Amino acid sequence: MINIKEDEKLSILNHSCAHLLAQAVKHLYPSAKFWVGPVIEEGFYYDIDLGDEVVKEEDLDKIEKEMKKISKDGKRIYREEISKSEALEKFKDDPYKVDLISRMDESNTVISMYTQGDFTDLCRGPHVESVKELKYFKLLKVSGAYWKGDSKNKVLQRIYGICFDNEQDLENHLKLLDEAKMRDHRKIGKEQDLFMTHELVGAGMPLWLPNGAIIRKELENYIYQKERDLGYEHVYTPCVGTVNLYKTSGHWDHYKENMFPVMKVDEEEFVLRPMNCPHHMLIYKNKLHSYRDLPIRIGEFATDFRYEASGAVKGLERVRCMCQNDAHLFVTPEQIKEEFKKVVNLILEVYKDFGIENYKFRLSLRDPHDKDKYFDDDEMWNNAENKLRDVLNELNIEYFEALGEAAFYGPKLDVEVKPAVGPEVTLSTCQLDFLLPRRFDLSYIDNSGERKVPVVLHRAIFGTFDRFSAFIIEETKGQFPLWLSPTQINIIPVNNAYHLEYAMDIKNKLLNLGLRVELDDRDEKLGYKMRESQTKKIPITLVLGDNEKESNFVNVRKYGLIETENIAFDEFIKLVLETVKNKSKNI
Ligand SMILES: [Zn+2]
Ligand SMILES: [Zn+2]
Repeated sequence: MINIKEDEKLSILNHSCAHLLAQAVKHLYPSAKFWVGPVIEEGFYYDIDLGDEVVKEEDLDKIEKEMKKISKDGKRIYREEISKSEALEKFKDDPYKVDLISRMDESNTVISMYTQGDFTDLCRGPHVESVKELKYFKLLKVSGAYWKGDSKNKVLQRIYGICFDNEQDLENHLKLLDEAKMRDHRKIGKEQDLFMTHELVGAGMPLWLPNGAIIRKELENYIYQKERDLGYEHVYTPCVGTVNLYKTSGHWDHYKENMFPVMKVDEEEFVLRPMNCPHHMLIYKNKLHSYRDLPIRIGEFATDFRYEASGAVKGLERVRCMCQNDAHLFVTPEQIKEEFKKVVNLILEVYKDFGIENYKFRLSLRDPHDKDKYFDDDEMWNNAENKLRDVLNELNIEYFEALGEAAFYGPKLDVEVKPAVGPEVTLSTCQLDFLLPRRFDLSYIDNSGERKVPVVLHRAIFGTFDRFSAFIIEETKGQFPLWLSPTQINIIPVNNAYHLEYAMDIKNKLLNLGLRVELDDRDEKLGYKMRESQTKKIPITLVLGDNEKESNFVNVRKYGLIETENIAFDEFIKLVLETVKNKSKNI
């Protein structure tokens, strides 16, 4: 989706459209007073004080009509520069403008206002030359917003809109917005009872409901098995640590703004942990290691807490409490290449299983002309960067290099995935780290008996389970593949009086195979129940009547299809188990 703010021409157009909106609102609500009308990534908004009146979604139409009328009138837009005292006099009846003007410093700001027809607004500009140019716009939504973002202040009405310079672009954009709305994981999450939030628990702290918990557990089992196969050892560690732990790791100096504030318990100071590396460093340090023990791979599904502004939190996508699919691999410098290759291969394998095809590998490297910015070990850097490159080349992976984007402590690989709608998301990362093992004084004994420092690879395949789930919900539109679906099979007896017993028998057999099955024995019409099975996006619906009962068959309807198929029950079981095992979309 286009970022309006980054496009200069569209920025001017959208900001001018905010004025057009204000003018139309003034015509319809003469007492309206205006705060600010900035351009944002998604278009523009204007914050408006309407006294006791409230603009509702359904009022946007009439405001839009008025905007169209003004635009057709085609008045020119004039800029005028005035002194501070003139401005204060001109806008003296408007406390919002007075607030803005009185904070302006005349010595370094030019105060200007823009007039179009009967409407004048204080503004820096620039604007388009005439309201005629504002033709292809749409008002999108309205919400409340505290004046100056402060909850002690009055709530203003914030009206959002977007403007383009041609009809086609506007239409395409509105289509994308519809698509995004349909896929929004918060909407699907509600419809399918996947997760909820509650103000008593707090912003950015989702609660996973039973259906969502099934999906999360399946994801955990899936990646756990893959990691076990690769020799990872999983641990559990507490989601708090002392301030000293994060002083040792260095996070206290560089990451404090993203952490929750300190809690004092007796004489100790604790924080909710923002990441798990320090805990895992200490687990490594718990024992002496020889080069023969390495690589040591410590994995954890670990809950972390990070500060996000309350306005920025969003469903499962941006949260303050998250569960990382985290692991730290402790390797000798010689093992970097082999271990990194395994991580990349794991990423590729997982993406294949989830049908993720649209992604880019980004290799973040040190800026060789600005070495001061990085951990000082030339040989280590060159060596490591070449190895990472080699792996990507050997695996024939397309990637791009981001010079100067490496962290202070080592190069890293990110995978940016392009979702069906919306901006790219970074799901997987693998980061090399020369520094943290030193800060924790980690070591191993090499083959000549010398004490050496291991290199650490931080890696997350799903990223967090929260964000990955949000991604999967939106990609699948809530039509989960059979293995992930909270309910896999819904059984509907044609007539409870005759077929319920057979249906219960089938249900129990499927449950015994570990499948997630529901039996709909409500006294509702068959057609109604079948429709509901579709609305709930259950992958398989079985309809059982006389024919099925007599021959031990099932009548199978797959999600999204009208036609049904009669299959022997034994055959059906085989198909279902195979589909679940292969993680295929449906039988
Ligand atoms: Zn303006
Ligand atoms: Zn880490």
